[in-house]
Amino acid sequence: MVSTEYERRIAARFAGFDQDGNGYIDREDFSAAAKAVLAEFATTARSDKGQALYVGAEAFWQGMAGIADRDGDQRITREEFVSGAVKRLRDSPERFAEIARPFLHAALAVADTDGDGAATVEETARVIKSLGAPEEIAVAAAATLDTDADGRIGEAEVVSAFARYFTVPE
Ligand code: CA
Ligand code: CA
Repeated sequence: MVSTEYERRIAARFAGFDQDGNGYIDREDFSAAAKAVLAEFATTARSDKGQALYVGAEAFWQGMAGIADRDGDQRITREEFVSGAVKRLRDSPERFAEIARPFLHAALAVADTDGDGAATVEETARVIKSLGAPEEIAVAAAATLDTDADGRIGEAEVVSAFARYFTVPE
């Protein structure tokens, strides 16, 4: 079987969502992502920031399930991911951005350890790494997000970059 560049990119996106690597995306993967980010920043689930992150993770899961879980079994298989999520997200990246925004907003708030309203490039790299990316990729990705090079990562930069990454061109 020939693996195209497109298929490899889809596989990478699917693996990014499938945090526990069991072959399908479900609610557990989103709560695992929230847990990993909170652990990285030594933040408790009961804190305001922790609760906001879990609420965002649940909203993200519900949004993804709404567009991709076609048989309603509360699991997004790879086939559902490719036929449902990827195609629909490509058609409307702004919709995907809205689904992901509460989670990303909450994750940046957790990463913003000094509470000045923005995460630094380094803090953002720690978020990406906690979600399973290798360190050098996380560092490079965070640097790319700082489009105006002021060392701080804004929500708009993260949301649009996230939407771009997950809306794979064919
Ligand atoms: Ca999974
Ligand atoms: Ca399903």
